[in-house]
Amino acid sequence: MMNIAKVVVGIALDREFDYIVPGPLQACIRLGSCVRVPFGPRETQGYVVGFSDRSERSGLKSILAPVGDRPLLSENMLRLARWIADYYAATIEQAIRSLLPCAVRRHGARFREQVSVAPAPPGAGNPPGNGKLTPKQAKVLDLLRARGEAFLNDLAREAGCTPAVIGALAKRGLVTMARKGRARDPFASRAYLPTQPLALTPEQAAALDIARRAMDTLQPPVMLLHGVTGSGKTEVYLQAIRHALDKGKGAIVLVPEIALTPQTVERFRGRFGDTVAVLHSHLSDGERHDEWYRIFEGRARIAIGARSALFAPVESLGLIVVDEEHEPSYKQAEAPRYNARDVAVMRGRIEGCAVLLGSASPALESFQNTMNGKYGLVSMNARVDNRKMPVMRIVDQGAEAAKTGKPSVLSQDLVAAMRERLENSEQTILFLNRRGFATSLTCPKCGFVAGCGQCSISLTYHKQADELRCHICGAVARPPAACPKCSDPAFKYSGVGTERVERVVRSVFPKARVQRMDLDTTRRKEAYEQILGDFRARRIDILIGTQMIAKGLDFPGVTLVGVIHADLSLNQPDFRASERTFQLLVQVAGRAGRGDVPGEVIVQTFSPTNAAIQMARRLDFRGFIDQEVEFRRELFYPPFSHIVCVTLEGRLPEAVAEAASGLAGRLKSALGPEVVLSGPMPAPLSRVKGKSRQQVLMRAKATSAMTAPLKAALGELKIPRAISVIVDVDAISMM
Ligand code: ADP
Ligand code: ZN
Repeated sequence: MMNIAKVVVGIALDREFDYIVPGPLQACIRLGSCVRVPFGPRETQGYVVGFSDRSERSGLKSILAPVGDRPLLSENMLRLARWIADYYAATIEQAIRSLLPCAVRRHGARFREQVSVAPAPPGAGNPPGNGKLTPKQAKVLDLLRARGEAFLNDLAREAGCTPAVIGALAKRGLVTMARKGRARDPFASRAYLPTQPLALTPEQAAALDIARRAMDTLQPPVMLLHGVTGSGKTEVYLQAIRHALDKGKGAIVLVPEIALTPQTVERFRGRFGDTVAVLHSHLSDGERHDEWYRIFEGRARIAIGARSALFAPVESLGLIVVDEEHEPSYKQAEAPRYNARDVAVMRGRIEGCAVLLGSASPALESFQNTMNGKYGLVSMNARVDNRKMPVMRIVDQGAEAAKTGKPSVLSQDLVAAMRERLENSEQTILFLNRRGFATSLTCPKCGFVAGCGQCSISLTYHKQADELRCHICGAVARPPAACPKCSDPAFKYSGVGTERVERVVRSVFPKARVQRMDLDTTRRKEAYEQILGDFRARRIDILIGTQMIAKGLDFPGVTLVGVIHADLSLNQPDFRASERTFQLLVQVAGRAGRGDVPGEVIVQTFSPTNAAIQMARRLDFRGFIDQEVEFRRELFYPPFSHIVCVTLEGRLPEAVAEAASGLAGRLKSALGPEVVLSGPMPAPLSRVKGKSRQQVLMRAKATSAMTAPLKAALGELKIPRAISVIVDVDAISMM
């Protein structure tokens, strides 16, 4: 009798607890069931992750009751959770928590109920002649007859009356009212124009063919679709998903959060309608709950969303698409620190479904997997309709500064190109991945730099708000009237942010319609859509923005993209700096020339001969890969190794340093010779929010060669509670 259940409770203890399944509950408690259990003096909620016929413990307590009428987690999802916990060195609770949205986990979350109105059956109520209808009542009845049924609030709004008017109709027996569950639809206010499959280009057709074969035979199970920007990858996804639906299967589409624009959603809704559910972080809890249940109950068969949509409970999965698979935002910043692209491959393996990774600039890791035969590769090298790839020009900011005497925000070339676009009523995008006005405030006399008291970075000056802000912890300070150190009043602002670019553009082109789009101008939820809508409608000539505007946008009016300062990403202290720069330039360039007029890209940089920039200029992905791969191989960096980054954080710098060297020492003796260990060393961001930070890095061919000894070492060392240990497997950012 398997009457002992192994239960993982919501408190992060990396353990399973045994509970007796009482006889009457045995029929309804299954693997993945959510249950209420006694825990110490309290009650808590947990998930059944296994069964057994005996327990090593005595005095077991019993499960109190199941929550919900069927398991929220399938057996496959439980397997996935175990894999995530194991691979990313997280606890099983953390893994399970990331599988289910909070709004679903929370006990008792339900669909919202609303009053639904329907016409009364014929013959009921007063005959129409008996008592006149007001014009509003007549309108309500007309609307209802046309519709059959409607929710009270919608009906009142459409008829232009109060709910009381409809209430009066109900009293007279002309309509009936009932409470009904109503899914909150985050897109209720939008209409979608249905679209039909497009006739594919030969390259698209070939890609679709291979994707279909992958879905039918799992040979190969994972495909990398390397398609230049504008090659029509989305249409390939759409038709591949159609194939899945035709086979009675469902699909998941992942896009990076910043690319999850209404435009993207519209493409999928336009093709597949209501069977598309959308999951992302801007939904309200209620909306997320309802969208999740639409999938869970099979009313929606396609889930589209950012990172966490990967865990959508789509039954009988046929395809997982990961668009822009190279995006760093697929990595979750909290435990479990998983990469949704890699977990997608694992979910595909567990569920026996095909996985399609798409990008114009694939990650080295993914590309290497095509070279060693793990993934299939299909390329699309031409834009749809034979549109030309944009021409990229490099402007040497150093040479320009030498010529004009000082570095300028906009080079002469860029200004000339922008002027031309304004004259032709074409649109320009300017990209700079740094917001604010000036990135530092320094005293030219004594060298004082205004820094954050809590973090090891300098404060950014925001001119509009006249504030200094820390972009790490958000601390805000007034700009000082004089240098706090030497009392000299002449401060110097240096380093350019988007706010400064906006100023300069407005002064050079006073008549142009200019809009900035960054975190500061899009704090309101609707601002983002509003700006993109205005840009699409050509009410904006020049759009200036951060990475928010680099991805996925498809605006046919844009013929010029200016990159204000390409060195920003190049100068990051990270072995992926070149790769990021290359990807960024390719993506940004992809925003230009998507309409009939060919696009141009102007890249300003102080490193015009840098290889990544030059390869990006020629859009030479293979050239870039070949060179970068050599560098990675030589230095034993990913994709030739896996990297585990351990960061220790605490208030007392000495204690953190001591714990870090203790950990490094223990690892040194525990790790095999196949692991390269570096550190302890101060993290590149050595202080954050007043906490001192130290790092230990490991590299090896297999992660388990690092994570297993690490777990053991952390278990033995008893690092003080005041120091937090952050383990990041396959780290993407090592700041
Ligand atoms: P990518 O994601 O590869 O950058 P998109 O999927 O955004 O490219 O496609 C670029 C544009 O080309 C879109 O406007 C899309 O509607 C259009 N398009 C894609 N495939 C076709 C096709 N076969 N025929 C005509 N237009 C297409
Ligand atoms: Zn700070």
